[in-house]
Amino acid sequence: MKKAIYPGSFDPITNGHLDILRRASKVFDHVTMLLAVNPNKKSEFTVEERLTMMKEATKDIENVDVDFTSGLTVEYARKVGANHIIRGLRAVTDFEYEFQFAAANSFVDSNIDMVFFMAGSKTSFISSSTINELHKNGADITPLVPSSVIEAYRKKDQSK
Ligand code: ADP
Repeated sequence: MKKAIYPGSFDPITNGHLDILRRASKVFDHVTMLLAVNPNKKSEFTVEERLTMMKEATKDIENVDVDFTSGLTVEYARKVGANHIIRGLRAVTDFEYEFQFAAANSFVDSNIDMVFFMAGSKTSFISSSTINELHKNGADITPLVPSSVIEAYRKKDQSK
């Protein structure tokens, strides 16, 4: 069984992430969308909120599950017997970071390889930070994120 991990901050999950995930789920037998928790990075949503949005948004994709780790993605992949780590590439600026990430992963475990998917033409401009910025400034982000994200913003805004 060919297993892969799709790690990220998913703060929040966007239609860009979902596009990569759907395409990867056709290439691999099983994909785990992994919330890689970085306690040093300031986040918009809590780990629980992000996981809830991710689970709801991916529930109709049969061979996908959602999990989180506060450790290294490569260690997680090794633990579950996945040999591939999926990432998405938008602009050249992504390449620099992904290139380093790939080298660091290979240093930890050279048996685990990275697989990159090019961003879709309709979703390539979407990033979690853009979504947060647009929402804060009152823009309608409905076409850019799954409905679970709209719901999470609604709850968050109500509790303010
Ligand atoms: P990280 O903080 O690890 O970069 P993100 O949640 O921002 O986590 O992104 C996870 C992965 O998804 C990264 O490989 C990123 O390049 C990719 N990605 C993010 N947004 C898009 C998009 N709109 N289209 C394609 N790939 C994307």
